[in-house]
Amino acid sequence: MAFQQFILKVHSRCDLACRHCYIYEMADQSWRGQPRRMSPAIIERTGERIAEHARQHDLDTVEVILHGGEPLLAGADTISHVVRTTRGAMETGTRVNVGIQTNGVRLDEAYLSLLENLDIRVGVSFDGYEEAHDRHRRHADGRGSYSEVRVALQRLAGPYHAIFSGILCTIDIRNDPLATFEALLEFDPPAIDFLLPHGNWDAPPPFLDPRGAATPYADWLITIFDRWYGSSSHETEVRLFTEIMRLLAGKASRTESVGLSPVRMAVVETNGSIQQSDILKSSYHGAPETRLNVLSDPFDAALLLPSIAARQIGLDALSAACTACDLRAVCGGGQYAHRYSAAAGFGEPSVYCRDLYRLISHIRSRMTGDLARLRE
Ligand code: SF4
Repeated sequence: MAFQQFILKVHSRCDLACRHCYIYEMADQSWRGQPRRMSPAIIERTGERIAEHARQHDLDTVEVILHGGEPLLAGADTISHVVRTTRGAMETGTRVNVGIQTNGVRLDEAYLSLLENLDIRVGVSFDGYEEAHDRHRRHADGRGSYSEVRVALQRLAGPYHAIFSGILCTIDIRNDPLATFEALLEFDPPAIDFLLPHGNWDAPPPFLDPRGAATPYADWLITIFDRWYGSSSHETEVRLFTEIMRLLAGKASRTESVGLSPVRMAVVETNGSIQQSDILKSSYHGAPETRLNVLSDPFDAALLLPSIAARQIGLDALSAACTACDLRAVCGGGQYAHRYSAAAGFGEPSVYCRDLYRLISHIRSRMTGDLARLRE
């Protein structure tokens, strides 16, 4: 199945040194060999390759996400060049939706105006109230980034709300869940993505004993789910909850964190190399590697790789435990990277198995209860 989303690493370094960063702080260290910024030649070739892929697969829409490192470090000229080149390379009939995922530190008035003019939707990584956010999202000298990011979010909540796509919040179960949720809602985000910290069976996520009975991440998320689900008004979309509810209703998932939908995303690094999801960087050094490059290879070549095929065959790629699980169609074995162990490769259930099972069961029971009441 064709790729539909292209993550472009326009800058491979960051101006923060977040302690929970999966790009710089986990197993894969390949960023050290990457050029800092995507060159004009790589930008132009990437645009042509995306257009070629869209043409060959007759795609109505493709999504381009400017990512990093910190993409705003690439500078206004590079960002404009990427967007204009990619849209310019496309033949009529394919729409290019562009987004950017930033830490928000440099998201000033000038950048917001540029992003608005280029019709780029903005997602900000932000972990909640000051103590929660600054627990991890710090400068290299230890200073927190909360006060800088807050200013950017106030602008997105106000005059630039039309280009605000949402907030990505990495969970730390030491933070109060409801206070975290309220701190995110303060900026009226259209959507919130709660990100489970990456880990696997050999390097479990913080505070998780994957073989124990406790479900600390489910407990944390259920507190927020009940607050969100019970609200009398629609305050925001919480993507993980919405996706689980869609899957429980028999629809397909639109994310790689739950469900069995085939992965449709490719990454292009600053040197033009085509890679798989960079979440795989949390598994082992070189895990996202494909040995392909936009300078010499079309995206179709990546579709033929066994490692990509394994993420497009749904149920057939699951472990025996997941195949036998009554929630397999909803959970889908969870995030692919979270299934890794050196002994079994990606053939394990999710390291978050118990948490996912509990969270999905809880959401199902709330939905089932409501449906029964409606029928009465
Ligand atoms: S809940 Fe566990 S066993 Fe069931 S599909 Fe998810 S990871 Fe697999």
